[in-house]
This record gives sequence, structure tokens and C-alpha cells, in this order.
Amino acid sequence: MNVVIFGPPGAGKGTQANFIVKKFKLCQVSTGDLLRNEVKNQTDIGKDIENIISKGDFATDEIVNELIKKIIIDPSKKNKLIFDGYPRSLNQAENLDQLLNESGQKIDFIFFLNVKKETIIKRIEKRKILENRSDDNHVTILKRYDTYMDTTKLVLDFYSKKTNFHEIDGDQKIAEISSKIEQILSV
Ligand code: AMP
Repeated sequence: MNVVIFGPPGAGKGTQANFIVKKFKLCQVSTGDLLRNEVKNQTDIGKDIENIISKGDFATDEIVNELIKKIIIDPSKKNKLIFDGYPRSLNQAENLDQLLNESGQKIDFIFFLNVKKETIIKRIEKRKILENRSDDNHVTILKRYDTYMDTTKLVLDFYSKKTNFHEIDGDQKIAEISSKIEQILSV
């Protein structure tokens, strides 16, 4: 099965994606991690996006679509994908459907982790101490939240009409969210 998990920064996408990876033996595809990797390795893409990420803006659809494509066409990962942080725009959502379709796959489950802004600010401040990410400061958090909400509204509209869409209250405890997700995926 292929799963999309989406929600604002700090919603717990990475944590829940990790849980699903272990429980259901899927491969996590985090565009944030893929982009940070490009920056770390100082690739051509990495040099362009370093600034964008640290300001809390989005990388272009072209860049992320290209990174995603390499993974979707990998036969060893077929029907074992969990997308975390992708798609973030309508263009990316349409691109994902098309790429999966071209390789005989589809999205089986979509989870939207809905979280209050205050919860996110608290969580990201904690993560800043644990992971020391350059984009986890107070100003960038608010910017990233607003950018996310503005641009992903269209993704939410696109997905919420689908029958495999599940909205989950992301303000709950980690274990409660994992248990809801597990119930849905186990049917
Ligand atoms: P994340 O780890 O998912 O919070 O992503 C960290 C940062 O990477 C975001 O704030 C964006 O700058 C960039 N990013 C991650 N995924 C995407 C995406 N699908 N489209 C555009 N930019 C992205």
C-alpha cells in the first residue's frame, strides 16, 4: 500500500510516518529530508535551496517533483511508500497521482493531521532543542505554518473529497494518533 501523511510543520507527520514504516514495513519518503540531504551534500540543487529552506519558503515544484520521481520509479519500493511532507501544492498532488498511475500504483490512504497553531509552536520549540534545525526558530515557525496553510489549502480541498481521506486530530497524544492510524490501515 501507499500512504500520504500531511499536515502543517510540527503536526507529527515524521513521528507517525516512522511508526507506520516500522509497523507496516513501508519506505518513508520525506521531501524535507531529501532536500536537507541535497543541502548537506552541497549538490547543485542543494546550493539553490539552502536559503529557501532556512527562510521557511517552499522549494519549487520542479525540484521536489524530480526528487520524488526517482523514488516512485524504483521497483524495490513499489507499493511500499509513505509520503511525508509531499505533496504540498496542488501541482505536486496532481504530479503524484500521475507518477503513481504511470507505474501502476495509487494512493491507498491519505491522513491529514490537523493541529492547532499553539500546539505547533510548542512542539517545534522542543524539536529545535532536540534536532537543532536552522528553520525551527520562532519567526520561521510562524512563517512556515502560514505558508503551509495558504498553499496546502488546495491540497486539502483536493484530497478531502476522496473516499480514502482520513482527518485525524493531531492535538492528541502520539500513541493515540498512532493507534487511530493503525486501526484504519489494518482494515
Ligand atoms: P519538512 O521537513 O517537511 O518540515 O520540510 C522542511 C522544509 O523543506 C520546508 O519548510 C520547505 O522549505 C522544504 N520542503 C519540504 N517538502 C517540500 C515540498 N513538498 N515542496 C516544497 N518544499 C518542501
